[in-house]
Amino acid sequence: MPELPEVETVRRGLEPAMAGQRIEQVELRRKDLRFPFPPKFRERLEGVTISAVSRRAKYLLLDLSSGEVLILHLGMSGRFSVEMGGKKAGTAHYHYITASDAPHDHVVFHLSNGARIIYNDPRRFGFMDLAAREGLETSKHFQKMGIEPLGNALNGELIRSIFADKKTPMKAALLDQRLIAGLGNIYVCEALHRARLSPMRLAGTLSSNRGAMQGKANLLASVIRDVLNEAVAAGGSSLRDYAQTDGSLGYFQHRFRVYDREGEPCPTPDCSATIKRAVQSGRSTFYCAVCQK
Ligand SMILES: [Zn+2]
Repeated sequence: MPELPEVETVRRGLEPAMAGQRIEQVELRRKDLRFPFPPKFRERLEGVTISAVSRRAKYLLLDLSSGEVLILHLGMSGRFSVEMGGKKAGTAHYHYITASDAPHDHVVFHLSNGARIIYNDPRRFGFMDLAAREGLETSKHFQKMGIEPLGNALNGELIRSIFADKKTPMKAALLDQRLIAGLGNIYVCEALHRARLSPMRLAGTLSSNRGAMQGKANLLASVIRDVLNEAVAAGGSSLRDYAQTDGSLGYFQHRFRVYDREGEPCPTPDCSATIKRAVQSGRSTFYCAVCQK
């Protein structure tokens, strides 16, 4: 499943091909993906110009000259490819590319620069929706969504305030999309290890003792940004490498310090413990019981 860094990688792949272009034609090869396409979907898109390609949590947002926003969610297996003049011009895939699987090419956008943007989704958990730009933050997909972890809003003081009185473990609080939107299991494990915070610690304790915990909260905010930005950077280089090779992009695993490394040495300098695995709310947590407190 694409996580926030993969979605940001896709956004960066789509932006140069799509921003500023007019949508000439939309080919819809099905009536639905995970949900039916919105009413008059083609009519609302054809002839309008894409003014910006942005992202909120794991949603891609195309700002349209009509005042609407095309909302794209990749679900489990959705991906985009960009073709220019009949040839692959860029890979906006987040994960891997299989050989020809045209049966799963469900939507094709034809743009005024000649680009074809193809949406492929074998499992069809992705979806597309249209909503007015005005009031988007309070519309159905976004109204309960927490703060954006890659934005400037996330800092230690804000983490302390949104975690105040939370009697849930740190791991669960960080995965709660109503508090911080778009943080997935892998990145939460990585960030907690770097901040040397136990995933089992109660989230509210970050707010309890100002003197001791303010620094920890600041560190947590900064390492969350670090792990996401590093994954975005790795995604970009993986995509470029892919163009000359074939095979899986590998979901950036080589970048993970603790995720899926049960029994391996803790990567913290001077720590001689090994990484443990626990199950919290049905998800695997990888952590060091010695240096994460
Ligand atoms: Zn350790």
